[in-house]
Amino acid sequence: MKLILLGAPGAGKGTVAKMLTELDGSVQISTGDILRGAVQAGTELGKQAEAYMKRGDLVPDDLIMGIMEKRLQEPDCARGFLLDGFPRTIPQAEALKKLLEKLGITLDMAVNIDVPREVILDRLTTRRTCSNADCQAIYNVKSNPPRVEGVCDKCGSPVVQREDETEEAISKRLETYNEKTAPLIGFYEKEGLLLTVKATSSEAVIEAIKARLAA
Ligand code: AMP
Repeated sequence: MKLILLGAPGAGKGTVAKMLTELDGSVQISTGDILRGAVQAGTELGKQAEAYMKRGDLVPDDLIMGIMEKRLQEPDCARGFLLDGFPRTIPQAEALKKLLEKLGITLDMAVNIDVPREVILDRLTTRRTCSNADCQAIYNVKSNPPRVEGVCDKCGSPVVQREDETEEAISKRLETYNEKTAPLIGFYEKEGLLLTVKATSSEAVIEAIKARLAA
């Protein structure tokens, strides 16, 4: 399947994407994971992106499109992909549309995961992430803690709170979402690709996606 996952930070895009990869071998492409990996590795991209990310601002569109143009042409994307955290702005959505046309790829849908603000705030302050750039498994201190506190179940690396998950950066990220990313809902509605799912459980989101794919 070829999907875009839309939704505020903490809506569950990453969790849903990871669950969907199990269904048909589609790959999760998270621009946030790619950028955090680049920051950790100290690459040129990481150096350019780091300050924006720490503040909870968006990284400039041209850097993101450079990443995505390459990534979407890698062979593992042939079986399908789940775009998690991309596109984030109207210019990115327009550039993606042109890129997909050039590559002859058709999207199945853009899924808008719509979760109440109180749930989002609670989730972001209690979320923990594996610090290994190749893993980045997601945990929650309340609802889904690792088996051993602070240690990733999957790879044994330390599980930490992300630097952009301080209260200040979270409120900035939510503001940025409302201003720059929420308009994509209207964009994909016009394209005839939108599926909005109001659900706080990832399983319910998966069921709604499966039902639409089967229709
Ligand atoms: P995420 O893990 O998706 O919440 O992304 C973490 C941070 O990475 C965001 O707050 C942005 O600074 C940056 N980022 C991730 N994806 C994008 C994107 N598509 N466009 C611009 N910035 C992005």
